[in-house]
Amino acid sequence: MPAVTVSDITTLARIPEPAPSAAERGVRSVTEAPTGFEGEGFPVRRAFAGVSHTDLDPFIHLDQMGEVEYAPGEPKGTAWHPHRGFETVTYIIDGTFEHADSHGGGGTITDGDTQWMTAGGGILHIERPPEALVASGGLFHGLQLWVNLPRALKLAPPRYQDLRAAESALLSTPDGGVLLRVIAGEVAGHAGPGATHTPMAMVHATISPGAQLRLPWRRDFNALVYVLSGAGSVGAERRPVRTGQLAVFGPGDVVTVAGAEHQDARHPALDVVVLGGAPIREPIAWGGPFVMNTRAEVLAAFEDFQAGRFGQIPAERVPHGDLGELPTQPA
Ligand code: MN
Repeated sequence: MPAVTVSDITTLARIPEPAPSAAERGVRSVTEAPTGFEGEGFPVRRAFAGVSHTDLDPFIHLDQMGEVEYAPGEPKGTAWHPHRGFETVTYIIDGTFEHADSHGGGGTITDGDTQWMTAGGGILHIERPPEALVASGGLFHGLQLWVNLPRALKLAPPRYQDLRAAESALLSTPDGGVLLRVIAGEVAGHAGPGATHTPMAMVHATISPGAQLRLPWRRDFNALVYVLSGAGSVGAERRPVRTGQLAVFGPGDVVTVAGAEHQDARHPALDVVVLGGAPIREPIAWGGPFVMNTRAEVLAAFEDFQAGRFGQIPAERVPHGDLGELPTQPA
């Protein structure tokens, strides 16, 4: 169950019913996220696996981290590692994660908080559960999204935004059947706190059994719905979806998602994240932790990293772990 809920959903602002003339977005594909392991071995689902860059643009990569119930001593994070050419958005639904980077950014995010890191021209960072959570174990569930940067901003100065759960805009549907948390961008005039280089929106929706979300969505944005947990359907055609599946929508004004009448006891509602942004439409050259426009730029990033041009690990952070092997997988 997501940490951010409301006791009385009827007190929230409601999104309007779409106009009769609004065009329903059709469902282009539904794919299944394979399971893998990230960093020191925490379980992830690779939400975008098998989907073309063109359909994902401006997004590059999405990992669902957990949901996992750690035993004491078990929680895991990443070693220090570099990034260049994009932004990472880490949204913690349940549990706690710590972040530190070579640009002075960092902090602890927990239960509905989001951190937005613009790697831009280059950064070193580490992402880990805090010591207390390692000792105690406990529930951990979150998302990490990679948002591409256009050529003109690939080498922008790094930036760190710490977005607290209380800053998200909380909204409901006209019948109160859906809780919407706007983390970035805008829904029906209600803006979330995230500031993005690339115009985009990110919404976490909890859809009650049998309820329907008809979400107004900018026509110039793509539209992706990833199922965090539960069962339901997408589009006017009511195509079935369940935990770990990604739906890519075609063009239009409205994204429709419905919760199945029956949900399993552990996840009593359908939880989805809705993502959309303005496509960048540039070539993508992706090598490990670097996402550039050309292969030569990726090779230059590896050279700059090996030559120490990505900055220094802050001295007080070194006990957390030395700079490990250069990752070849997204981290
Ligand atoms: Mn990283």
